[in-house]
Amino acid sequence: MSDSYTINANWTLIGPDLEPVRDATVIVEDGVIADITTRQQPAEFALGDVALIPGLVNAHTHLELSDLTQPLEQATPFTSWVRKLIGHRRTRTTSPVEAMLMGLEESKKAGVVAVGDILSGQALDEGKFPEAVFHASRGLYANYFYEVIGFKSSSIENALSQYSRFAVEQEDRRPVLEDFTIAVSPHAPYSVHPALIGELTDRSNLIAMHLSETRSELEFLDRQTGEFRQMLEDFGVWEEGVVAKGSKVLNYLEMLEGRRRVLVVHGNYLTDEELVYLSEFQHPDRSVMSVVYCPRTHAYFGHEEHRFREMLNMGINVCLGTDSRASNPDLSVYEEVKFLKRRYPDMDSRELIGMATWRGALALGLEKKLGTIEVGKQAKFAVVELGGREADDIDIRLLAEESRARGL
Ligand SMILES: [Zn+2]
Repeated sequence: MSDSYTINANWTLIGPDLEPVRDATVIVEDGVIADITTRQQPAEFALGDVALIPGLVNAHTHLELSDLTQPLEQATPFTSWVRKLIGHRRTRTTSPVEAMLMGLEESKKAGVVAVGDILSGQALDEGKFPEAVFHASRGLYANYFYEVIGFKSSSIENALSQYSRFAVEQEDRRPVLEDFTIAVSPHAPYSVHPALIGELTDRSNLIAMHLSETRSELEFLDRQTGEFRQMLEDFGVWEEGVVAKGSKVLNYLEMLEGRRRVLVVHGNYLTDEELVYLSEFQHPDRSVMSVVYCPRTHAYFGHEEHRFREMLNMGINVCLGTDSRASNPDLSVYEEVKFLKRRYPDMDSRELIGMATWRGALALGLEKKLGTIEVGKQAKFAVVELGGREADDIDIRLLAEESRARGL
C-alpha cells in the first residue's frame, strides 16, 4: 500500500468520541489523515461491511512469551505460577527472539498499531537489542521497556550499568526509526530495590512497573512476609531492610512521580488513597500516570473485581493490555474489549473501545500521532469485521461475539 490513498467503510469511528459515521471516506496523504468526507466518491480501498477504527494499542505485553500456544496451567499462589514460567523459559525450544517475532506478527494481524512490550534480558543479544526484532518492529509504534530486576543492594550498580550501556546503544537508532522507543521497567516492588527504582526513574521519562498485582505483594510491602519473601529466600536474594516495614504501593507511585508517562501495570488492588493520588497526575502536557488493566489475565488469575470503572470516573486514564500468552490465549486487544463487554454489558461500547485506542496512545505518550481517526493523525487503523448482522445498532455489532479486529 502506498502512503497516499483513499479508504471507505460502511462505518468509521471518527474523533475522540469514536462517533460511528456511515459510509465515510478517509483521505490519506503521506501516511497522514488529510481529510474525512461523507461525500460520495470512489475509494481505492472499499472495505464494505466493516468498521474502520483507530489502530489498537496493547499497552502491556511480554512478546518474548508469544511461543506459548496456550496459557500456562493455572497455579496458586502467584509465585507458583512465576516458578512455572521460569520453568518454561528454561525448557522451551523456541528462542525468545523468535517468540518476539511471532508476537509482533500476531499483533499486526490483530489490528494492533502500538505495543508496550516488556523487554526481557533473555531476548537480548549480548546485552544488545536483537536486530531481527528491530526490523520486525517496522510498521508498529513499538515501545520496548527494558526490564530491570535487582532486589539486593549489591545488585544495584551492576543493574544500572547494564541498563546504561544498553540505553546508549539505542540512542544511535533514533533517527532510523522514529516510531521505535526504548523505555525502562523496574519489574515489581518485590524484585527491585527502591534505590534502583529511583535511579531508573531519573533516566527515563517513560516508565512501566507491575504494581499492586496481588494481595501477597501488599503483604510483602507491609510486613515482608508471605510467598514473595519465601521466593526471594529460595532464590537466595532476600535481604533484610530493603523494603521498610509498613511500605505501600503508594510509596512506589511516589517514586515514579514526575515522569512524563507512567504505566501502572495491573493496579488490581489499588486503595482509595492511591486512586486519589493517581487522579492528580492526569495532565497530558506534564505527566499522565495510567493504569493498564489486562482483563483476561486478571480473570485467569481469579483476582477480585478490578476498579477500572471507578478509576475512569475519577479521571484516571485506564488503558488495556493483553499481558503475555502465559496468562492469555492471544494478543488481540480487541478480544479484551469484547471480554469486557460480555462482563459489563451496561458499559458503552465506544467507551470500552476508547480504552484500547486513544487511552492507550495517551498512556504511551503517542496521543498526538495515534489513537483517533482525525485529520492530522497518522493513518494507523484497525478493521473490525462486524458480526451481529441481525442487529441494526452499530454499538451492538461492534462488540458482537463474532466481530473480529484485524490489521488493514
Ligand atoms: Zn506483565
